[in-house]
Amino acid sequence: MPDATPESFVGGCQCGAVRYQIRASAVALFACHCHECQKQSGSAFGMALWLRTESCDIAGELREWTRHTPQGRQMRCQFCPNCGSRVFHRSSPDPQLISIKPGTLDDTSWLHPRTHIWRSSAQPWVSFDSDCVFDGNPPDFQALSIQPDTTGVTKESGR
Ligand SMILES: [Zn+2]
Ligand SMILES: [Zn+2]
Repeated sequence: MPDATPESFVGGCQCGAVRYQIRASAVALFACHCHECQKQSGSAFGMALWLRTESCDIAGELREWTRHTPQGRQMRCQFCPNCGSRVFHRSSPDPQLISIKPGTLDDTSWLHPRTHIWRSSAQPWVSFDSDCVFDGNPPDFQALSIQPDTTGVTKESGR
């Protein structure tokens, strides 16, 4: 499976002032139902696509707000100052690893998270079509790694 093969991820914020083109391999795709993600997205859950980047081409200004997580980590939350769309999260000491808000991709047709976290605070009407569901954070974030046989995250298998 080509899940370690870099591909191009292209997208931008809602107003178009921020555009990105990232060559990366996808590491994880999941939906988070925690209150922070509900607050951030203004919706029922947030989605995250973790990328191991090879090259990152970003046009436009990003502003940053740092959230301190209960685990003592710092999450740098990057957004378009014009329209407010959250675009990237950076919380890893590894600068190559970034989390993008995958709803900002131009092509969202292949996004289908098989992993859900924080079911304990999920909206009661959300149903899960997966058995990879955690009540809170997974014990090990390796659990969020993309399983090539069970996710459609690579473009080859997702289209
Ligand atoms: Zn914008
Ligand atoms: Zn969350």
